[in-house]
Amino acid sequence: MPRPWLALRPMRKQKAATSAGSGRVYNGRKAYSHQRETISRVFGCGVFDCYGSSEVVNIASECPHGRMHVNTDFVVLEVDRAGIVSGEPVPFIVTGLWNHTMPFIRYRNEDCGELMDGVCDLAAIFR
Ligand SMILES: [Zn+2]
Repeated sequence: MPRPWLALRPMRKQKAATSAGSGRVYNGRKAYSHQRETISRVFGCGVFDCYGSSEVVNIASECPHGRMHVNTDFVVLEVDRAGIVSGEPVPFIVTGLWNHTMPFIRYRNEDCGELMDGVCDLAAIFR
């Protein structure tokens, strides 16, 4: 399956002229540093990861400081530490707030992670 950033190559000249100064969101897979560099160079903008799934979209977004922030307008993200030994991956439990047709409530999406405390410099924009 082609990676999304590779599909951007044919648009290089057209997009480079129209996109300077804005950011691009990379969705679906975490962008590797060489992919970020290529996209940033071609489009003249920042590149930001977005985490989500088909079932629950827009779970978290990367801020300019490289930290992922939970999109609390779209989801409630919890971790389930039941039976988890320290150091093991912690499963996510996700509740989508926008899909009223097929709601996912406290859904185990099989992803793991950790929720961190603390305040980012951009806390006014991201939570
Ligand atoms: Zn941040």
